[in-house]
Amino acid sequence: MSTSGLFAGGAWVQGGEALDVKNKYSGAALGSVATARPEDVEAAIASAHKHAEVMAEMPVHKRAEILLRAADLIKQRKEALARTIAAEAGKALKIARVEIDRSALTFMLAAEEARRIHGETLPLDAVPGGEGYFGFWLRRPVGVVGAITPFNFPLNLVAHKVAPALAAGNSLVLKPAEQTPLTAVALFEILLEAGVPPGAINLLHGDGAVVGDAIVTDPRVAKVSFTGSAAVGKIILGRAGIKKVTLELGNSSPVIVAPDADLDVVAKRCAFGAFVYSGQVCISVQRIYGDKRVFEPLSERLVKATEAMVVGDPLDEKTDIGPMIAEKEAERIDGWVKEAQAAGAKVLTGGKRQGPVYWPTMLSGAKAGMKVMDQEVFAPVASVIACDDFEESLRQANATGYGLQAGVFTRDIGRALQAIKKLDFGGVVINDIPTFRADHMPYGGNKQSGLGREGLRFAIEEMTNIQMVAIKS
Ligand code: NAD
Repeated sequence: MSTSGLFAGGAWVQGGEALDVKNKYSGAALGSVATARPEDVEAAIASAHKHAEVMAEMPVHKRAEILLRAADLIKQRKEALARTIAAEAGKALKIARVEIDRSALTFMLAAEEARRIHGETLPLDAVPGGEGYFGFWLRRPVGVVGAITPFNFPLNLVAHKVAPALAAGNSLVLKPAEQTPLTAVALFEILLEAGVPPGAINLLHGDGAVVGDAIVTDPRVAKVSFTGSAAVGKIILGRAGIKKVTLELGNSSPVIVAPDADLDVVAKRCAFGAFVYSGQVCISVQRIYGDKRVFEPLSERLVKATEAMVVGDPLDEKTDIGPMIAEKEAERIDGWVKEAQAAGAKVLTGGKRQGPVYWPTMLSGAKAGMKVMDQEVFAPVASVIACDDFEESLRQANATGYGLQAGVFTRDIGRALQAIKKLDFGGVVINDIPTFRADHMPYGGNKQSGLGREGLRFAIEEMTNIQMVAIKS
């Protein structure tokens, strides 16, 4: 059982300075973990390096069994885990429960994918000189995976790294976000109980630029899997050296509303996608492009759907929207909205802050040049924008440095196909919001939204090396 929350070299270790964790709504103390000292980082990486072979040699059926046991334990501890997330991340309890269900599924999917890791034979005599060779390729584990995760899905985004890493036969060093370490500790307790060899998984806490950087730059770490902001992603890419790197970064998610769309459905789904978890989701709805012929009724419905959201204590069953992760984030977005207002945007509803809570806010008249349009808002603020026609809305949707997911509402197959062809995003969702994600689908972004893809099969591909074998007869 953990006291420090720091797991390195096959045991819970004492570590250094305490990192206190608070309830993000009330500010009450929740607990603390120990930050990793340089010697803890060394013990963790050395242990993962030593146990890479143990994991690689573990039969696939055993890896799959462990992953399934972990999924079962997550399900059994659903309520406790959901309450931890609601308190330390400020996520509404009912939404936190969905995250727990998805995390169990992520482990189950990883168990299935573990059994499907395979290569192909290759006719080497397809080229001159290949006569007499028998060829095939296979996938080998990379060795040590270094995983660095953000605060917003403290269980499922950790699961999206830990589960495929173990499924592929790798060992692991994880550094979760400073704001939400307690959920990661609870997951490690589960992984150990499920039967993961203790030295193969290591959990370090602390400052990203110190502990995270030590993982990224260590030559024994063969692959870095990072989810977080584009700014940190860029630093990591510059620091990692020659190793595999996956970056799952931010977005400025557009939604395109064609004149033929069902506006009631659009408004309800957009309000959910823009405001769930206070907009702190990488695929939160940020820019809603409505055809000018339906702009007025669309705006009215969006305001109504926004105002139906219940704001309050995330541990209250009725709450839809809790606080932001920190008061300074609520102050930041308050400043961005005021800046947009000063430049001519209109607050249709919301625009209110109380401590770390920012009320769901719908803007109109937002333009390029305003932070709410040019940057990732990562807050409960969305803008509805009138467009002359469908082509124009596709152009505007693409006018961003990001490219993770986009949503398009239309009942016209021609428009849907045109959108799929034109939108420069890693995922295009037709007739729903870009906030849709199924945990096995390839998930990741173009442009500044990142490199590589997650989703179990795709994460496993990124966490394995292809080995070619040529046998001369
Ligand atoms: P962040 O980039 O501030 O931090 C993420 C992690 O990186 C933390 O664990 C942090 O300690 C660590 N870190 C910070 N500096 C580091 C450094 N120099 N070297 C190594 N590690 C370092 O992000 P955040 O505020 O926790 O999360 C919000 C961001 O994450 C948003 O931009 C959001 O869009 C993005 N996100 C993306 C996805 C996705 O799948 N694409 C999912 C969730 C969140």
